[in-house]
Amino acid sequence: MNDLMLRFIFFNLEIIMQGVVLITGASRGIGAACATLAAQQGWDVAVNYARDEAAAQRVVAQVQAMGRRAVAIQGDVGEEADILRLFDAVDRQLGRLTGLVNNAGIVATGMRLEGYTWARMERIMRINVLGTLACCREAVKRMSREHGGTGGSIVNLSSAAARLGGANDYVDYAASKGAVDTLTLGLAKELAPDGIRVNAIRPGLIDTEIHASGGKPNRAFDLSHLVPLQRPGTADEVAQAAVWLLGEASSYCTGTIIDVAGGR
Ligand code: NAP
Repeated sequence: MNDLMLRFIFFNLEIIMQGVVLITGASRGIGAACATLAAQQGWDVAVNYARDEAAAQRVVAQVQAMGRRAVAIQGDVGEEADILRLFDAVDRQLGRLTGLVNNAGIVATGMRLEGYTWARMERIMRINVLGTLACCREAVKRMSREHGGTGGSIVNLSSAAARLGGANDYVDYAASKGAVDTLTLGLAKELAPDGIRVNAIRPGLIDTEIHASGGKPNRAFDLSHLVPLQRPGTADEVAQAAVWLLGEASSYCTGTIIDVAGGR
């Protein structure tokens, strides 16, 4: 058997053996792009969503059309009981988890600090920080060699806001993403002996519906003059980096945070 044939077989085995990934907030935007790209690269995908079941089912259909298994599972990652139910559903419907993309995240209406209510700040921290930590915890119980697992890979969606600070718009959101960076670095070190890699992506201005939920639907285009590459990024461009970090191609990366921000 020559070298070319061996490489062909290895490539196809790798595609078959990627495993099961849960992607939170995968009904649209960056999460949906990660789901379809992960499926293309051989992952079975659990598509979590909060409210829009029809959108989640469309992503499931796209994954299934690529020959991979997929299920849509509702659950608010700001609620611990929902997270526990979500992971149990993945166990039952797809089997043991080997990948997690902590993508679900929210912003609130852009404003200065004086306007922040306690409820706003609490909601952002619950979903962006506590949800990410608790999803990592549940994933570790399934992936860790200490718990009978075979290891795994976690990718967290941070934001360039963690570096930039979000002044006058959403310092609370930026701070929550700073926490995502920090927990990525800490868990990467803590979980390496368990066979689990933990990495993160910091997207910049990406053209998704998140900006509308912050009250500025055109924000990614309106601010593109601040971006060295002079345009917003796409969800697919973020997914390329996230799915690379998720898979075996990045096997020597842990605690790595990749900026996908057009140079900003
Ligand atoms: P998006 O278009 O607003 O999509 C958000 C997704 O998350 C949807 O699928 C939504 O599901 C789900 N979701 C919202 N709240 C949830 C909750 N409590 N529990 C579970 N799922 C929930 O957002 P995106 O722009 O793709 O952003 C994805 C991630 O990238 C976020 O963490 C965000 O902070 C980060 N990011 C985005 C940008 C950007 O410019 N777009 C920049 C930096 C970082 P439903 O529709 O069903 O509610």
